[in-house]
Amino acid sequence: MAEFEFTRLPHPAPVPGATRDQAIADPGFGTVFTDHMVSIEYDAHRGWHSATLGPRGPIKLDPAASVLHYAQEIFEGLKAYRLADGTMALFRPQANAARFNRSAARLAMPDLPEDVFVEAIRQVVLADKDWFPGVEGGSLYIRPFMFANEHFLGVRPAKKYKFLVILSPAGNYFKSGAPAVSVWVSEYTRAAPGGTGEAKCGGNYAASLVPTGEAFERGHDQVVFLDAAERKWIEELGGMNLFFALDDGRLITPPLRGTILPGITRDSILTLAREQGLDVREEMYSLDQWRADAESGKLLETFACGTAAVVTAVGKVASRDGEFTIGGGGPGQLTNRLREELVGIQRGAIEDRHGWVMKLD
Ligand SMILES: *Cc1c(COP(=O)(O)O)cnc(C)c1O
Repeated sequence: MAEFEFTRLPHPAPVPGATRDQAIADPGFGTVFTDHMVSIEYDAHRGWHSATLGPRGPIKLDPAASVLHYAQEIFEGLKAYRLADGTMALFRPQANAARFNRSAARLAMPDLPEDVFVEAIRQVVLADKDWFPGVEGGSLYIRPFMFANEHFLGVRPAKKYKFLVILSPAGNYFKSGAPAVSVWVSEYTRAAPGGTGEAKCGGNYAASLVPTGEAFERGHDQVVFLDAAERKWIEELGGMNLFFALDDGRLITPPLRGTILPGITRDSILTLAREQGLDVREEMYSLDQWRADAESGKLLETFACGTAAVVTAVGKVASRDGEFTIGGGGPGQLTNRLREELVGIQRGAIEDRHGWVMKLD
């Protein structure tokens, strides 16, 4: 990192302490932002340069900036936690850095050195550590992102990019305990083979808004996407991966075939479940099988996982063919056990045997 210095721009007017403390008392998700941001510029001649840690604020964009026209944009999502001893820590940030570069490659964007990605996060989290919400289960949600910033309307990869990191204090995703969610199986698809399904790009989310809105209108919490080729195999929710626990000890999750986002929570759950002696399988699982196994009682639990909600039970599934309930319709034992173990590791209450927790100060 020695050759990559961050310039610190002084903040002319940080949010007063009392206002800040009020804002972070019950922050919810994604509406409160901290004082600072990191910004790094890229152009084809100089590479990455002009890294700054400065005040968070509006950025100037030319109306011809290529991201506004052809959606060359990728992002990441991770959290800073406060460990039991008060230390700030990140969970597997190198995995986010590596995935960011895989997304960049798919969107014809430049590679950002992994240590620069992690250092950028470290700088801004330490600058804004007073923004850490005191509420039980709180965290600082971290949003690194990169977009094409060349003034050019031709269709080709841009020659200029901007990388930014902003922070949003987040409350406990579920206020009291973790309820089971109800999901709607969409007839829209999220990602086709050969498409951008495994890249964390804004465009995937733009395309998921209508199907997600449809799920909400029908009274469900989340949307489930089936594969685009056969409309048969379960892929994932709008922003979370899925797991199915059967009564013979199998724990199934759909394989990474290029159309599913490779979740870091998914990967961590796979590791923890194997250690607990479960018969873990990355296998295709169909909607028909899901319904049959739920109805016969072979399927004990289904849960979704991702950084925001960690692990969430799925209690009810609805599609145009009707509804079915999983187990008793509430969170099951395995779901609770895996959530508690993962949250325990993230917050330093359970020993970190895998080197997943990176302390910041
Ligand atoms: C980010 C994301 C996930 C979850 O990934 P984590 O690394 O576990 O947070 C799952 N699906 C989609 C579509 C995502 O964008």
